[in-house]
Amino acid sequence: MKEKIIPVIIVILILSGLYLTSLYSYLLFHNIAELFSIIVACGIFMIAWNSRKYIKNEYLIFIAIAYLFIAGLDLLHTLSYKGMQIFNDYDYYANQLWIAARYLESATLLFAFTFIVQKKFSIKISLVFIIYTLITGIMIASIFYWKTFPICFVDGTGLTPFKKISEYIICTILVLDLILLYKYRQSFEKEVFSLLILSIFFTIVSELAFTFYISNYGFSNLIGHYFKIFSFYSIYKAIIQTGIVKPYDLIFRELVVKEKNLIDATKAADSANQAKSDFLANMSHELRTPLNGILGYAQILKRERDLKESIANGLDIIDISGRHLLNLINEILDLSKIEARKMELIKSNFLFSEFLKAIIQIIQIKTIEKGTDFYAELAIDLPRIIFGDEKRLNQILLNLLGNAAKFTETGTVYFRVWDAGKNDPMWKPSAANSRLIHFEVEDSGPGIAQNDIAEIFSPFKQVGKNKYKQEGSGLGLPITRQLVTLMGGELKVKSFLEKGSTFWFEIEVPEGSDINEFDLYSYNSITGYTGERKKIMIVDDNYHNRNVLKDILLPLDFEIDEAQDGNDCLNKVFNFCPDIIFMDIFMPNMNGFEAAEEIRKSNKLNTVKIIACSASVSLSHQEILPNRGLDDFITKPIELNELLKKMEYHLNITWIIDNPKEDKPNIKSDNEPSDIPPLEEIQKLNKLASGGDITGIRKHLDQLEKENHSYKKFINEIKKLAQTFQIRQIKILTQKYMDTVTHE
Ligand code: ADP
Repeated sequence: MKEKIIPVIIVILILSGLYLTSLYSYLLFHNIAELFSIIVACGIFMIAWNSRKYIKNEYLIFIAIAYLFIAGLDLLHTLSYKGMQIFNDYDYYANQLWIAARYLESATLLFAFTFIVQKKFSIKISLVFIIYTLITGIMIASIFYWKTFPICFVDGTGLTPFKKISEYIICTILVLDLILLYKYRQSFEKEVFSLLILSIFFTIVSELAFTFYISNYGFSNLIGHYFKIFSFYSIYKAIIQTGIVKPYDLIFRELVVKEKNLIDATKAADSANQAKSDFLANMSHELRTPLNGILGYAQILKRERDLKESIANGLDIIDISGRHLLNLINEILDLSKIEARKMELIKSNFLFSEFLKAIIQIIQIKTIEKGTDFYAELAIDLPRIIFGDEKRLNQILLNLLGNAAKFTETGTVYFRVWDAGKNDPMWKPSAANSRLIHFEVEDSGPGIAQNDIAEIFSPFKQVGKNKYKQEGSGLGLPITRQLVTLMGGELKVKSFLEKGSTFWFEIEVPEGSDINEFDLYSYNSITGYTGERKKIMIVDDNYHNRNVLKDILLPLDFEIDEAQDGNDCLNKVFNFCPDIIFMDIFMPNMNGFEAAEEIRKSNKLNTVKIIACSASVSLSHQEILPNRGLDDFITKPIELNELLKKMEYHLNITWIIDNPKEDKPNIKSDNEPSDIPPLEEIQKLNKLASGGDITGIRKHLDQLEKENHSYKKFINEIKKLAQTFQIRQIKILTQKYMDTVTHE
């Protein structure tokens, strides 16, 4: 309400002020009133001109241009008004200019309908300017120069018949305008239409007022000017409405609609993403469950010492293929986890040098097989222990180095690691013990075309003409890049076709401390554990999964009981009193979470450790562990090293490794030549094993084999261990040979 009253009060005040001015000096009133309409007319033009892109109504654009010329005539009319003393040569200019302007105005309003009637008739702005310049020019010349324009008003006598007739003609044209406007009202917005009607109506009233006066300073002249102001102002409002308010409304309306669409689309994408994640998690669960059986039994069977070579090879193939499949499933899941922002880093302290050594050994094997040179350049001042996600860093480096080794046919692969923080005075560590480690993988392989560099980080993209496409999935680099980002770094690449590629990144890692010496167990070498016999309960609805765990653990002398779901577990667990429970999570009847909660509630088994054991990767450590009564989490397929490490920790036992008697080479068991190489050769192998030099060991074995075929049995035994990087085992075994030889 207030919003409407204030403008009305302002208008009344202005009009009253104008009236008071007219009492003081009519000339002043006239000048103000005319100037006001001139300014409004110029405003009409300026607004229409600047917003012509949004004004879809050509009728209005045409009128707006015409009003600029009408304003010109009105300005001349004001300047030549009696009393202004500017044009003193002739008495009639002001009224002539007025009539000329009004003819132009009414004719403009009439002609403008052409643009509505003839929709195809589009406005040519320059042509409109030319025509109006010509018409106004001729009018001005006929008034000022040729003086042929009829006289309109004679002082003392009053209006001439020409003026009066003209005002009636103008009014008639304006009435015609009104009729046409009404007829074509559909072409205008409701508010614009009302304003135009008002404007024409005010012009008619104004013109009629001008037919009455007998003096240029009379009352009807005053009324006429008031209505002229109203009329111009209405057109001005119509232009504002069309050129500014409506486009903004339109833009905002479109923005609001677009925003809503965006929100809807985001919601749809989110739920689609969720559906995708759920599907992938379920699918992976289904795929990983049988893989647990395949990989588990491959490992158990490989434990047999006297396997025929063909069977051992077959088992290796099952193991390698199963791992390849598992890797692929893991990669797809990693990607979906990253996309769903569910990927989390699991950090711990680990021995950095051992970690790098293990990676180097794996890549060495690959490059030696291909005949590519491989150099690892590790700075000597690298931290001994770092705190980070060992598994993910391993994944990153193996992917980059694996690619370099895979794509480089002949040439060199370099792996460089150094402390970049030390060399960069600008680097500010976020904690006192932080180090900035630079990792770099360079190869002299085929390189990547500049156009393809962005592509290689897109999932499933494999570029260039390489024969290794089948070997990969195109998922490695996208995951690697995201993991590096998650660690706070940025994966960078520089590559030139035919020259090679360099991938590098830097991450800040805290220097770790307090670590029990990192050690990898070899399942084959564990024979038991220290202390009392421990009881283990395996809870899993899948019979094969229970058997895998049982077969792994029974030979290590555990007492084992099984349950096929949560209910079954609760029925048995309080009698059996296990030390550790391996609890599957998703089971019918009662799931693993519920069973664990029930066990914890009972207070009867206070010391039992419950280890969740699931093939589902949609569960994260953070989701699983707290407040659920669970002590730890291992994923299926079960990784033996992980299992053994966790058991040692939770059961507080120490594995008894190796039985010297068992591991003594059974020299006479078969027909294979089974001579043992001389002591110094075995010592060499032992030394290489102590230095972790798996490549050296392989080379030395090849050389020994060439020298003497009778060492075959011995060589094969060590080779088998070398194939699976069991350096520690090689060391133990060679030590035993050395002991045997010296004792004999
Ligand atoms: P994958 O190796 O499984 O195909 P990646 O995501 O690891 O998938 O790599 C994507 C693609 O990037 C590769 O297929 C290859 O075309 C290109 N690429 C990656 N690393 C190298 C490299 N060191 N030299 C040449 N091309 C590379």
